[in-house]
Amino acid sequence: MGTDSKSGDITTDVIDDLVVLGRAGPELISDGRHTVCLGGWSDTKGFVRIYPTHRYTTHAKRWNVIKVPVEQDPSHDWRDESWKIQGSKRDWDNLYKKVEQMERLDRQKRIELTKRIPKSCANRLNDEKKSMGLVEPAEIHDAYLEPIDNPEPIATDLTGAELRSKKSYPHKLRIEYTCKDCVAKGTHDQHTIEWGVYRFWDQEPDNPEQVIDNLRLFDDDYRNYFFIGNLKNQPRAFVVISIIRWKKGDVQQKTMDQFL
Ligand SMILES: [Zn+2]
Repeated sequence: MGTDSKSGDITTDVIDDLVVLGRAGPELISDGRHTVCLGGWSDTKGFVRIYPTHRYTTHAKRWNVIKVPVEQDPSHDWRDESWKIQGSKRDWDNLYKKVEQMERLDRQKRIELTKRIPKSCANRLNDEKKSMGLVEPAEIHDAYLEPIDNPEPIATDLTGAELRSKKSYPHKLRIEYTCKDCVAKGTHDQHTIEWGVYRFWDQEPDNPEQVIDNLRLFDDDYRNYFFIGNLKNQPRAFVVISIIRWKKGDVQQKTMDQFL
């Protein structure tokens, strides 16, 4: 690990053992940066959120172990798990170059890690003032598309390429579930913002419901875990950042991996 250093309230560090567990759907920041939020697990830091990152940061695929210089500013984001890449605004155009791939976990290591990461429930995370966690669903009750009434107009960059944000799609995916050792009174019903869902909708805009089958949520041959996080401005509201799944037995998961 790098040496911690402090300047004012901003902490800088280098995380070199961050396993990417998922990336969220795209967002547009008001200054025009097209961004995604990346989340993962570090044995030294626990859960880590890095925001903003480039939409296409090739080294940041799920299950890659990455090394990245980070900084934390509690005056900007109070959540212990939240970090930015050092110089994320100043060096935005070249930010992806700061993400270094150390390793890529094979299937066995992915399963071992998923089992080893502590599991929780959104309500328990909320009580503990934690902003991220991994959930093992005991039962998935429903998955459905909720219409977005007034989707944002799709912005374009100087070349005319579309810059979609999560809010520019006509629907959002929600999953209703209970977790193992759940402490919620009812079920959880959470917006699912996994990057792969939006990539699927980009490629199959006329068949949006198909994403539910592709996620294998109701397929008994698959084991699912939900990587969840809360919203900075609505800390009690948790969303599913990413769905981790594998087929029981020895077949590699393929259905959604092409979109991650
Ligand atoms: Zn729960």
